[in-house]
Amino acid sequence: MSKKTRKFKTEVQQLLDLVIHSLYSKKEIFLRELISNSSDAIDRLRFESLTDKSLLEGDEDWKIKIAVDADARTLTISDNGIGMTSEELDRNLGTIANSGTRNFLEALKEGKAAADLEMIGQFGVGFYASFMVADSVTVVTRHAGSGAEALCWVSKGDGSYSVQEAEREQRGTDVTLHLREDVTDLLSEWRIREVVKQYSDYIAYPVTMDVEREEKGEEGEEPTKTITEETLNSMKAIWKKAKADVTDEEYKEFYHHVSHDFGEPLRVVHYAAEGATEFKSLMFIPANAPFDMYMREHQKGVQLYVRNVFITDDCKDLLPDYLRFVCGVVDSSDLPLNVSREMLQDAAVIRRISKSLVSKLLGELKDMQEKEAEAYRNFYAQFGRVFKEGVHQDFENHDKLKELVLFRSTKSEEVPISLHDYVERMPSSQKEIYFITADSQEAAASSPHLEAFAARDYEVLFMVDPIDEWVVQRLTEYDGKKLKAVDRGDVELDDAETKEATEKKLKEAGEQYSELMTAIQKHLDEDIKEVRLSKRLTGSVCCLVADDAGMNANMERIMRAMNQEVPKSKRILEVNPEHPLVDKMNGLQSSEEPAAGRLTDYIDLVYNQALLAEGSQVKDTQRFTQLVTDLMVQGV
Ligand code: ADP
Repeated sequence: MSKKTRKFKTEVQQLLDLVIHSLYSKKEIFLRELISNSSDAIDRLRFESLTDKSLLEGDEDWKIKIAVDADARTLTISDNGIGMTSEELDRNLGTIANSGTRNFLEALKEGKAAADLEMIGQFGVGFYASFMVADSVTVVTRHAGSGAEALCWVSKGDGSYSVQEAEREQRGTDVTLHLREDVTDLLSEWRIREVVKQYSDYIAYPVTMDVEREEKGEEGEEPTKTITEETLNSMKAIWKKAKADVTDEEYKEFYHHVSHDFGEPLRVVHYAAEGATEFKSLMFIPANAPFDMYMREHQKGVQLYVRNVFITDDCKDLLPDYLRFVCGVVDSSDLPLNVSREMLQDAAVIRRISKSLVSKLLGELKDMQEKEAEAYRNFYAQFGRVFKEGVHQDFENHDKLKELVLFRSTKSEEVPISLHDYVERMPSSQKEIYFITADSQEAAASSPHLEAFAARDYEVLFMVDPIDEWVVQRLTEYDGKKLKAVDRGDVELDDAETKEATEKKLKEAGEQYSELMTAIQKHLDEDIKEVRLSKRLTGSVCCLVADDAGMNANMERIMRAMNQEVPKSKRILEVNPEHPLVDKMNGLQSSEEPAAGRLTDYIDLVYNQALLAEGSQVKDTQRFTQLVTDLMVQGV
């Protein structure tokens, strides 16, 4: 066969122009692409040899070899895979633009990928990435099976390529890149090692390189040089092995690799899905939260592989945000090797994998909660704040998540409990689940809102993380019981009989204090929505409550901390009719003495106390302090 020169298909040349002129910084990814092509070629040969043994030609020593010639500035990637026929060379590397080429160019046109050439590999045109670093590429290949001729494909990426006969004893392919002058690092041993380790460590075949080592000779003698062939990748796709074949030590080592945490993982989740969605996965629940857990930039820790080849560690949809602490590997055989970022974003396959992973992980957590309560609490102490977001994010698993969230409470100030625990020990008279939100457990525990609940021996859950305000918006019921904020709306704590008695008492108090209430309302009209007599106080004189739709003080603080505008919302002032101070105020109200002026002092005092109790600023600190001292002097 004489030398033939052919023009690249227009789209291919357009693609090459882009690649050649790209300023993309991760140029080393070409090596990942070439190694994975080699690995595929070996896979294919192994597959075809199942029915035709002769294709093996007696060589089953599978290998991908990298060779460097620093003087010639060349890098060669060789494999003993299936090779290419003349027809395949044309089809794969030149005249026919495959759909990937078109899709890639289209994506570029739409501006989706303008700055990101990494996509080249993801569109099934990875071979062309070679031109990011090479000014000339040579492919020598011989297809498996006796009688096939060896061919040499050469191109400078400038519109055409040539094909001619060549010499190659064994079947397989050599891809030789002549590196451009501006590419300096990729001829060095350490850099090649680094790139192979980073992108191709789990390729199932050895990726080797000849390494030259100098050994000092005896006194006065020249040092001796030895060349040894070293394998650069670990080939340990341990997630593909059966559980029984992996040692604890291996799990631990791999955990270090993916988590950068050098302790032990809290839980190993080694899981292979079969059926409609097939993948293998090895995930870890770490023992400790990484330092950047709560930062916006925190990367999720699950890497996506497709048939042993690393694709990305940034596949946003693989796991939902609330499981972002999980690290490990997922290896799918349902995705094409060169899957694009767009494809990853809305691939049904990814959604199915994600669904299956989430369900598996939640199952593991449930199991831990049931069988290793202590370990589960450790998990929750580390990751609970992130995990809880799930209640807000993941409706599909809402019921499971409700079982898994924990809170401390008035009856369990140290050890957090589940809603299940809570309901189990509810007194029979209690109908709802009560909680209080605040910015700290101390603030929650000392809130006057808890009084009536404590009086009835009702437990109240503490929701003291900022995220809890969002969590409770979705956590509206559990086991048929409503969750109810103790500082919001009306409370109905009693059975019908007691309720009637309470109503009666309140009605009487209402009549007794009606003028006082009007006076309070008048004086505080700008600050409060309304004033009413309270059913929830036993010890304190008053408290502020939000109405059912309104914002409470805690939510206001969180919004402000997030630099959000907080609409002015007035709260309801509840006054305890049983408190002696109220009686005293009422005395002042109805007295004919010109002491009426002092009633407003009392009202201010009482209102400020309610503000303090909810963690808000008092209105006028100086005046408040003065009032407190004055009244103390008077022995109130
Ligand atoms: P992809 O590998 O995603 O198909 P590439 O542009 O990297 O896209 O390669 C195009 C095609 O060229 C491959 O599908 C394969 O058929 C052929 N090819 C590339 N490298 C090799 C190789 N080392 N051995 C055999 N065939 C190869």
